[in-house]
Amino acid sequence: MKLLEAINVSKTFPIDGRKLTVLHNISLSIEKGELLAITGKSGSGKSTLMKILGCLDVPTAGTYLIEGKNTLKMKPDQLAHIRNSMVGFAFQRFFLLPDMSALDNVALPQLYAGKKESDAKKRATEMLKLVSLAHRINHYPAQLSGGELQRVAIARALVNNPPLILADEPTGNLDSKTGDHIMNIFIRLNQEQAITVVVITHDISLAQKTNRIITLQDGQII
Ligand code: ADP
Ligand code: MG
Repeated sequence: MKLLEAINVSKTFPIDGRKLTVLHNISLSIEKGELLAITGKSGSGKSTLMKILGCLDVPTAGTYLIEGKNTLKMKPDQLAHIRNSMVGFAFQRFFLLPDMSALDNVALPQLYAGKKESDAKKRATEMLKLVSLAHRINHYPAQLSGGELQRVAIARALVNNPPLILADEPTGNLDSKTGDHIMNIFIRLNQEQAITVVVITHDISLAQKTNRIITLQDGQII
């Protein structure tokens, strides 16, 4: 079953009074339960595409469907709802809140979703266990290593139980051994929890650990 489908998606940014087209007629579909990579050189349009797939941005032209629903017809609050309920994001920069413990960072999306604090913390603890960080739940971001920070960010991405993880250069700030460890977590989440995982990376060796590679060049799929 199709989870995501882009049909002739283009994205143009106005810049210096001109139009810069960054994505040209992208068509792709992603099935539920897939583990795949979107790769390409820096500047090829990967992050722009990721933002559209995650409903953080909208196409300038074309159609983007999520579970068969046309996002073009959605109002901003409907898009926000899709984003919050369907997508867990992981980024190269982890975007953890420095004044909160690992546990509180992971619990936060549950609180936003209206869960009771005790339930949110219970769920957050489970997710931190899932990424093998049970022993670090009371640490603050400054007290964690890069690999641990990314694992906290992945736990946070998982806490609202999204069917889809979008990870944009999730290993970009990590050494290759730690990067492999993070990649193995994504593989495990895909295999054991049937979560659809899209890893965006310029690193071909990382992309090759997934089951399908989509390559972008100058905003086009090649
Ligand atoms: P990648 O993630 O593959 O490195 P991006 O999607 O970030 O590539 O960027 C693709 C191209 O689009 C780059 O040339 C970048 O400068 C341009 N770009 C991205 N976002 C914007 C924006 N908001 N306004 C103008 N140009 C942008
Ligand atoms: Mg990028």
